[in-house]
Amino acid sequence: MSHSDNGFFGQFGGKYVAEVLRRPLDELETEFRKAMSDPSFTQELEEIQRDYIGRETPLLHAATASKILGGAQIYIKLEGLANTGAHKINNAIGQCLLARRMGKKRIIAETGAGQHGVATAAACAKLGLDCTVYMGEVDVRRQQPNVAAMELYGAKVHAVTSGSRTLKDAVNEAMRDWAANPDTTHYVLGSALGPAPFPDMVREFQSVIGKEVKKQIAERNLDVEALIACVGGGSNSIGFFAPFVDEDSPRLIGVEAGGIGPDVGQNASRMTGNASRDGILQGYKSRFLLDDDGQALPTRSISAGLDYCGIGPQLAALGKSGRIEFTSALDKEALEAVKFFAKNEGVLFALESAHAGAQAIKLAPTLPSSKAIIINMSGRGDKDVFITSPVFRLEKWLDFLHAEIERLEEHKDIHEAKIMG
Ligand SMILES: *Cc1c(COP(=O)(O)O)cnc(C)c1O
Repeated sequence: MSHSDNGFFGQFGGKYVAEVLRRPLDELETEFRKAMSDPSFTQELEEIQRDYIGRETPLLHAATASKILGGAQIYIKLEGLANTGAHKINNAIGQCLLARRMGKKRIIAETGAGQHGVATAAACAKLGLDCTVYMGEVDVRRQQPNVAAMELYGAKVHAVTSGSRTLKDAVNEAMRDWAANPDTTHYVLGSALGPAPFPDMVREFQSVIGKEVKKQIAERNLDVEALIACVGGGSNSIGFFAPFVDEDSPRLIGVEAGGIGPDVGQNASRMTGNASRDGILQGYKSRFLLDDDGQALPTRSISAGLDYCGIGPQLAALGKSGRIEFTSALDKEALEAVKFFAKNEGVLFALESAHAGAQAIKLAPTLPSSKAIIINMSGRGDKDVFITSPVFRLEKWLDFLHAEIERLEEHKDIHEAKIMG
């Protein structure tokens, strides 16, 4: 099941949208297929992947970590070294190049924690496109570092005030905008979900990860037992797994956010959680965390990128068929994994990616040292300093924040005069 059959992955997927969105979605699908079979497009994509994103990204042998755990050799695919710090840029650049080819100069995107917004804003800056990012008002307030970055890249950040004022509402607002402006505007959806053709398209742009890994495995002659990735909407995992899903091995393991426990509202486990069910939401059929009335349930995770209530339809189907195994990691296990790989490998995982790291820590000791397991480090952890510092070193962090506020208040005027001239 490496791609959809007319938009469907088994029983999941589809295009459950209002009539006004059918034409732009159909047009997008046609143009995407044309572009991917046009060497001038794929060559331009490869060039920008190399020179702007910094591909290929390394596959690091985590020798010390492997030795300490005493089992399989752990390898880390360093997607966090991609420009802007995570895998999201692979999709953002691909879709923005496609939009430019289609003559659409205005880009819109939704963002939750802000990572996809940052990637899209950067891609638009690079390609000379106008960018508007829809972001829930609650997220705008708690994710200021990413809002600041988007603005530096020249994007307009539109704070969404409807509903719970978070990601789900930002998606709705972006869909509404696209429906009103389909001729001038392309909607860059941030994960491998939503109505067809987005799940296929996002997977294709992210599959550069898996293709490189496949080549790197062959170059080093590794005997790979498992690939492990964290799963939010599912773009880094499906991109990593894609070249392997039609083969029997290696094992493919998706790790969801286990949050603080198994109860409803304590996690975001769409495949393994007890509130998980089939549903249709935001244009596609998949597995969601829903209440008895079919409304999205609240989720919880220390990692902002893993707390969406739905999962991409291809992953849902591959979970059902058994090709992908799903498990979860708790917040505290992800935090331990961040510490473990930082201290022993000099690699700072994003909290999202650390969920995959936590699973590797559990799995490696059960395997012989002749085997390899590969973690996709979807992003680096610099962005999480506002979350990890209060956990690991609260007092020092509070001192720092107080001192910063004092410094800024005292020097406000001098500051503005000096820096902005
Ligand atoms: C957004 C994000 C994720 C989750 O999104 P997927 O679509 O599931 O990949 C994971 N890791 C990082 C670093 C992210 O920014």
